[in-house]
Amino acid sequence: MVAENVEFQVYKGILMHHSPVFKKILSRASTPNFASSASFPIPEVLVELDVLSGLPIVTVQDAARDWRYALRALMGDTIASRVTVCEMPKITSEQVFAFIRLGHKYQMESLRRTGLDYLKHYFTSDFGCYLSCHVYTNGDLMRDRFGNHDAIGVANLARLTGELSLLPTALLLCCRLDLRDLREHGLLYSDGQKEVLNKEDWLHCCQAAPEIVRTVASTAWEIFKTLPGECEHVFEGIGCMAEISNLRDSVVPKLIESLTRTMDPFLGRVDKQDDWKDATENMAPRCRQRLSEALRRRREAVWEMLPSLFNIEIEDWGLVEPIV
Ligand SMILES: [Zn+2]
Repeated sequence: MVAENVEFQVYKGILMHHSPVFKKILSRASTPNFASSASFPIPEVLVELDVLSGLPIVTVQDAARDWRYALRALMGDTIASRVTVCEMPKITSEQVFAFIRLGHKYQMESLRRTGLDYLKHYFTSDFGCYLSCHVYTNGDLMRDRFGNHDAIGVANLARLTGELSLLPTALLLCCRLDLRDLREHGLLYSDGQKEVLNKEDWLHCCQAAPEIVRTVASTAWEIFKTLPGECEHVFEGIGCMAEISNLRDSVVPKLIESLTRTMDPFLGRVDKQDDWKDATENMAPRCRQRLSEALRRRREAVWEMLPSLFNIEIEDWGLVEPIV
């Protein structure tokens, strides 16, 4: 196989086993009268027979980088490592992207599925999962697995494969980047190639970004708006309302600026901040609970409208599990 002038020597049985596309191409190449590569399932794939050995030489129009990752996975030592990404603790976004890109193009379902399942764990449609996984940190989103620029690759792959549920969280992450950067510099791969965000989603990001900034500010307001003006604990000498005012008037406004910068309409880890914790510790448990409920409800409401911010319709989005 030849990709970008890099030659790979591959046992054709592996490709034929994993890919119906290669099965078709390589079976035809081994027929006695094979001469040209016309009318292959993927027209850009060129097949010639080597003069000396008679073996097929397949020229593909993909990044050698992608094929290196895919072939390593397909030719792993054990059956399990061939297709199970979870067996690879150090898997990078480049690898995952390669699995999905080539898996999709050549119908290598095990690679495609494995890559997509992995992405769906991080770019999830489940809010509980979103809150619990690495996504939910302030500035450095999932830095152990994905950089912010990787969201460009995720969004493009979502469009390629039709897995639209990846889009809302990917585009939210894209909005954290400089909007011009999404189309100009884009995502830089280790071999120096770059990938920019598709134009449709870039336009969605441009429209959504100011809306997200507005949502960050309104989220704080909405939380406190739903709380009662006074509570019964005032008779016990517990200053719940004073602490709530402190949070509303001082703690949260200070946070808004940084949350606007990081484009986090879920108010980041506001409830994990020391200021927040100090204030709520002085409140009666019932009012503390009321406040965290208000925060939770507001976050869920923002989560539910996330796809619409980017003008995307996704079936089953926002079905939050009822709390028992
Ligand atoms: Zn109270």
